[in-house]
Amino acid sequence: MNLTVRILIGMAAGLVLGTLIKLAGVPADHFISVYLVDGVLDAGGDIFIRSLQLMVVPLVFVSLVCGAASLGGHGNMGRVGGKTVGLYLITTGIAISIALLLALIIGPGEGAASAGLVTPDFQPKPTESIKDTLVNIFPTNPVNAMAEGNMLQIIVFALLFGVALSRTGEAGRRVNVVFDDLNEILMKLITMLIELAPYGVFCLMTVLFTRIGWQEIDKLIAYFMTVVLALIVHASVVYPSLLTVLARVNPVTFFNKMREPMLVAFSTSSSGATLPVTLRTVERRVGVKNEVASFAIPLGATINMDGTAIMQGVATVFIAQIYHIDLTFVDYLMVILTATMASIGTAGVPGVGLIMLAMVLKQVGLPVEGIGLILGIDRLLDMLRTAVNVVGDGTVATIVARTENDLDLDVFNDPDAGRVIDGAD
Ligand code: ASP
Repeated sequence: MNLTVRILIGMAAGLVLGTLIKLAGVPADHFISVYLVDGVLDAGGDIFIRSLQLMVVPLVFVSLVCGAASLGGHGNMGRVGGKTVGLYLITTGIAISIALLLALIIGPGEGAASAGLVTPDFQPKPTESIKDTLVNIFPTNPVNAMAEGNMLQIIVFALLFGVALSRTGEAGRRVNVVFDDLNEILMKLITMLIELAPYGVFCLMTVLFTRIGWQEIDKLIAYFMTVVLALIVHASVVYPSLLTVLARVNPVTFFNKMREPMLVAFSTSSSGATLPVTLRTVERRVGVKNEVASFAIPLGATINMDGTAIMQGVATVFIAQIYHIDLTFVDYLMVILTATMASIGTAGVPGVGLIMLAMVLKQVGLPVEGIGLILGIDRLLDMLRTAVNVVGDGTVATIVARTENDLDLDVFNDPDAGRVIDGAD
């Protein structure tokens, strides 16, 4: 059976089972809760996410060394880097603008009596300054960067290493062969892991839906729907338009191929953990050459979060409306700028978008405690926005590759290219 279908079945089964357990009101000390939900299923979900995460550091390093080695040889690294970062910033800017616009039109927090909403305690964590963020991109110790999984530092080291490798003549060529082989092995490992996705996703969804609080949603339905609408508009209008105009490819084909990373992103709420799946899909199914994909995808998983920016845009307007605080045009520009900047240097892990929101709110003088209002339903939105974050990375990688002549159209147009079929690559 088709892998996407199997993942969808896993998801649906998890959703149904989780909801049933929740509706049945199974007490926390019942054996179903203790052994099944908090035991086997929770462990299963954790193991799935961990096995994806375990791939991230070796894969990004090896793949990017290969990519930088061939890019370094062509000498067009600066251009590819500039285009990628530029497109990431522009798409995030567009995302948050759409969010602000829709939120202002819909007015999700208008007329709501703030007294009706409970504000649980929310303690914002201190955020880094932009200067520190920039300085911290450069590692002092690459081993430490890998041990901590600091993506931007790993990217910098891999790029430098790859470029040096491409300039080292015979020795460089020998090592390059080893890295290319390692890359193949790691890709194979991901293919093996993706086959487990239906089971992992089933565990994650079951546990999530036994724990999720629906009762919050009705109070916040306008906020929830505004975020969802903005996510849909961004994913179904902005990305397809960019793909059609800038990459001159069929967006339907692109979205078809991106189904698996989207589903994994949705179930794990982490673009970081989804990275191995995204990278494999973008290279093997979409046809983006390693030179571009190995750089654009890990970078995107770290700095490009369009879905997150959308949530932040809507949340800012929502909180301002609840607290009856008027924002000026300049404030909105500030929100666009801060939210775009805040995405840089923040890892793609569940819920991190809310932490970054504190920085945006502070910038325009809104009460940070307002985050408490939307805390309850953020888990669900996190799933949706992470899927958008991941598609955004794939879109930009495809556009950059196409403009650099690094998109293999035969692979792109072949519906079976890179499909995971019984472990065969
Ligand atoms: N979970 C999101 C991601 O990993 C980040 C966030 O919005 O919280 O991309």
